[in-house]
Amino acid sequence: MSTPLFDTVCFIGIGHIGASLAKAIRQHGLARRLLAVDASATAREVALELGIVDSVDSDPAHAVPDADLVVVCTPVGAIESVGIAIAPYLRKGTIVTDVGSVKMAVVRDLGPSIPEGVHFIPGHPIAGTENSGPASGLADLFKGRWQILTPLPGTDEKALKKLTTLWKTIGAQVECMEPQHHDRVLAITSHLPHLIAYTIVGTATDLETDLSQEVIKFSASGFRDFTRIAASDPVMWRDIFLNNREAVLEVIQRFTEDLTQLQRAIRWGEGDILEQKFATTRAVRRAIIDAKQA
Ligand code: NAP
Repeated sequence: MSTPLFDTVCFIGIGHIGASLAKAIRQHGLARRLLAVDASATAREVALELGIVDSVDSDPAHAVPDADLVVVCTPVGAIESVGIAIAPYLRKGTIVTDVGSVKMAVVRDLGPSIPEGVHFIPGHPIAGTENSGPASGLADLFKGRWQILTPLPGTDEKALKKLTTLWKTIGAQVECMEPQHHDRVLAITSHLPHLIAYTIVGTATDLETDLSQEVIKFSASGFRDFTRIAASDPVMWRDIFLNNREAVLEVIQRFTEDLTQLQRAIRWGEGDILEQKFATTRAVRRAIIDAKQA
C-alpha cells in the first residue's frame, strides 16, 4: 500500500463540513489517522460513533501536536479563539487550513496566531447544504465543486501543492485568489442570496395566520426554494454577515437600486424593461448548467 498524503489530520470542529471532508479523506486513503477536536460533546460522540474520525477530544493539546494537517471547520466567529488555543501545539512543517466562508477575517483573526515554520493556507469549499453536525457529512460533497484557496504572499509552494492535491483527489477543482477578491465574489454569489432568502421567509412568517398557512400550502410556486436556503445554520450565517460587512453592504446597495428599478417598471407598466431583465437572467441559469454547477 502506498504512503498516504498526510499522516495525521486534525479537524477543529467536526460538523457538516469537517465531517464531509473527513469522510472524503478516508474514502480516498489520504491520511493514516483522523482526529477531531470539537466544543460540542454531541458532535464528538456522533463523529466517533459513525466512525468519521479515529478519536475525538475537547482539548486541542491532546490532538494538535500529532497533526501534519490541521483543518479549522468551526464558524468564522470562533476562529480567533481557535487560533489562540491551537498555536502552542502546532509543530514546524504542519499545514493549517480552514473552510470558513469569508477569508479576510480569517487571515486577520487566525493568521497572527500561526507560529513561524507552520504553513497557513486559508481555504473555502463552494459546497455545502443547509444541514449542520457530523451526521450530515457527505463523502462526495466536494465532487465537481470549487475549492478556493487564498494563499498569502510567501506561502511555501510545496505545502500549497500538497493541499491542492488533497482537494483535487477528492474531486474538487481548485482556484487560488486574493482573500479580498474572494469576499467580494462570495458577497454576491452566496451572502446576498442568503440574506434575501432570510428576508422573504421572515416576511412570509410575519403575515397573518391565514395567509401564512397558504404560504406553506402553495410553497412550490417559488417560496420553497428560498426556505431551503433560509434553513441554513443561524450561527454560521450571523458570523458570515458580521465578518464580510463591507462587501455585503456594497452589494445590498446595488441590489436595492436594481429592485427599485424593477418596482418602477411594474408601477408604470414598462413590460419591455421587465422582459429584457428576465431574458438576461435566464441566460445566467443556462451558463451555470453548462458549467456543471447547477
Ligand atoms: P457545523 O455543522 O455547525 O459545525 C461546526 C462545529 O464546530 C460544531 O460542532 C461546533 O460546536 C464546533 N465549534 C464551534 N466553536 C468551536 C471551537 N471554538 N472549538 C471547537 N469546536 C467548535 O458548521 P459547518 O456547516 O460545518 O460550518 C463550518 C464552517 O464551514 C463555517 O466556518 C462555515 O462558514 C464554513 N462553510 C460552511 C458551508 C455549509 O454549507 N455549511 C459551506 C462552506 C463553508 P457547537 O455546535 O457546540 O458550537
